[in-house]
Amino acid sequence: MKRTPKTFPEIPEVCPHCYFGRIQPGKRSFAARTNGKPVMVPDFPAWICDVCGFTIYDPTSLINLQRLLTNPAKPYLPHPAPKTPKTKPAKPRPQTDQPV
Ligand SMILES: [Zn+2]
Repeated sequence: MKRTPKTFPEIPEVCPHCYFGRIQPGKRSFAARTNGKPVMVPDFPAWICDVCGFTIYDPTSLINLQRLLTNPAKPYLPHPAPKTPKTKPAKPRPQTDQPV
C-alpha cells in the first residue's frame, strides 16, 4: 500500500499575477529564516514570469530545503559517510638516544 498524496500545487503555465506572462523555469536567490538564523540560497530553483517577474519557488525544492533546515543532523544522503580521518595526526617520536 503506497499512497503519494499530491499536495503541491501545479506550476501554472500562465502567470497567476498578471495573467499575461508565461512562467519559465529559472533560478532565484532565496532567503529564509529558520530558528533566527538567516539562510541564503543563491541559486534556488524557481518559476519566473517573463513579463512581471512574479516568482514561484519550486515547491519540491522548498520541501527539500525545509527538510534540510529542520533536520540538519540527518542529511539526505543515500549512504552514510564513514568516519575516517583523512589526515593521520603526526606523532612526534621522543628521542631516546640517552645512554642508559
Ligand atoms: Zn506575470
